[in-house]
Amino acid sequence: MPAEHRLLKSILPAKMFEVVKSGTKQWLMECPCGHKRDIWDSGGIRYKAAGQPRRLLRCPRCGKATWHRIRKKTESERVELP
Ligand SMILES: [Zn+2]
Repeated sequence: MPAEHRLLKSILPAKMFEVVKSGTKQWLMECPCGHKRDIWDSGGIRYKAAGQPRRLLRCPRCGKATWHRIRKKTESERVELP
């Protein structure tokens, strides 16, 4: 478990932690090169947030710092992403 989530788990009641986790699990970050990452799996948290912001992140596939799009997973991505 990433440090961010360990901290979150220590400050939140177990039930609340699960709510934040399942909420975050519906989101992913997408690099312009097409690489997608699960926000939760990379230590992120996205809870009760709206819109589709962008974040400057280093992509593990193309190795560049690019503006990743934060977006909700589609139905099939929710199943296919590990
Ligand atoms: Zn990339």
